[in-house]
Order: sequence, then C-alpha cells, then structure tokens
Amino acid sequence: MAKMPLGVMIGVGKVMGGALKRLAEAGFTTMQTSSPPAEYLSEPRFGELKSKIAEAGFTVTSVAAVYAGESYADIETVRRTVGLLPPATRASRIQDTKRTADFARALGARNITSHIGYIPADTSDPDYAGLVAALQEICDYLTRHTDGRQSFCLETGQETAEALKEFIAEVGRDNLKVNFDPANMIMYGTGDPIEALDVLAPWVAGVHCKDGVWPKGPGQLGEERKLGEGEVGIARFLAKLKEIGYEGPLTIEREIPGEQQIEDFIAGGKLLEEVKGRLGIG
Ligand code: MG
Repeated sequence: MAKMPLGVMIGVGKVMGGALKRLAEAGFTTMQTSSPPAEYLSEPRFGELKSKIAEAGFTVTSVAAVYAGESYADIETVRRTVGLLPPATRASRIQDTKRTADFARALGARNITSHIGYIPADTSDPDYAGLVAALQEICDYLTRHTDGRQSFCLETGQETAEALKEFIAEVGRDNLKVNFDPANMIMYGTGDPIEALDVLAPWVAGVHCKDGVWPKGPGQLGEERKLGEGEVGIARFLAKLKEIGYEGPLTIEREIPGEQQIEDFIAGGKLLEEVKGRLGIG
C-alpha cells in the first residue's frame, strides 16, 4: 500500500448506493464505516455490502462502534449519552461493541474505533474503573479473533492527550490504540492537536482528516468544517504525521448528509494529495 493512502469515513447506506465507484475514480482506496443497521450483520445483506466494497477495490480499515441513544448536542449531553461511560447502558454497549468487532473482522478490518465518552478526570471516580474494565474486556475479546490481532482505537477529542495516555497505561492492553482526530481536539477545546499528536504518537493506528473551529463559549462545542476551512491546519497536521512516521490511511471524515458529503470528500482528497506532494509523501 502507498504511504498515507486516501480514505473516507462513509456510512453503509452510501456504500450500497454506489458512492465508492466515484470515490475510486477520485483516487480513494480505503474506507472506515460505522456500526451498520442490524440487517447488514447477517446474510444476504452482509454479502451484498462486502461485494460492493470489493467491486470498488476498497480496503476497510476500521469500523466505528456507535450506540443507540447517543447525542452530540452539547458537552453536557455528550457526557450523559455517549459511549461506554453511562453506567446504565455500559454492559449492553460492550456487547454491541463485540458485535461491531465481529462485523469489522468479517469485512477484513484491522481496527474498530469508538468515542468511549468522557473519561473522568478524577481517577478515583467509579466510572473511571468501570471504563478501564470495559476496555480490558473488549480488548481481550478482540485478541480471540483468529485472523490476527484486532485493535480498539480510542477516538481523540474529549480528553487531553496526557489524560488519554494515562488511561491507555491503566487499561494495559497492547491492542488499545488511538484514532487521532485533530478537529475533535479543537471542537471540544481540549488542546492543540499537533502537540497532542506528539504525545500520542506511539499509539496512533488511524487518523481522521477532519477540520473544525474552536468553541465560542464555555459548555459549547466548536463546529465541524469542510477540510481546509477550519483551524486544524492540514499542512502542519500532515507534516507532523510524516515526522512521527505514520504511514496509514488519511481517512476524511465529513459530518454532513447527502451528496455534498461525497463532493467534500473529493475536494478534500485533492487537498490532501496536493499537500502530500508538497511534503514529499507518497
Ligand atoms: Mg472522528
């Protein structure tokens, strides 16, 4: 595989609608997707999905575990609803995560990814221990897969890099990694993403090429933007990735619906190729 191949974060619905063909023509070769609607977990829909991906020549690099009932409306709502943090849904969401891991493995994906929710800053909080135990259980489940090791990637954004590093050490599993999303660090106001990338470099197994702007006030989230139109600085992001020796896919994430998302992927791909050329990556 070429260094830093182009990728997209794309939903199963768009894949089934034929979007990969256009993206392949635009130079994309890899994709991540999310937990699919239930019918895609079994035949015949699973086989149809797999064929669509194979026909377009795409490699699936990761599947994001997402859970029913999550909302990203504002910081307080994220804290209450997202990931493995809420104790009432933790056990059932661990099972959902395992199903997503099975689905990912069947598509040949090496990684699964998730926002696990805000990791409590106070490590004596019972939810901190709860999250550590949840991740240990999931990471151990992934190693049972017979096709080699599968990794769980923590999506960045809701914690500082130092807090995430400490949490990874606490879980103590080799297959716990990071999917580094620079825009999230900005949108959650957690820190400069390029400095964070230095801290988390040993664990980075995937990235989201996403852009965004800082929050306007306390308790708010910043806004996501089209790649190149936010405050990440895509050139300095790619330069830092090169510096730390990252060679994996550059997966563009664009959190808008409809055909415009595909247009923005294609424009983002052009931008990434131009920056890669300037930095001598390829
Ligand atoms: Mg992301």
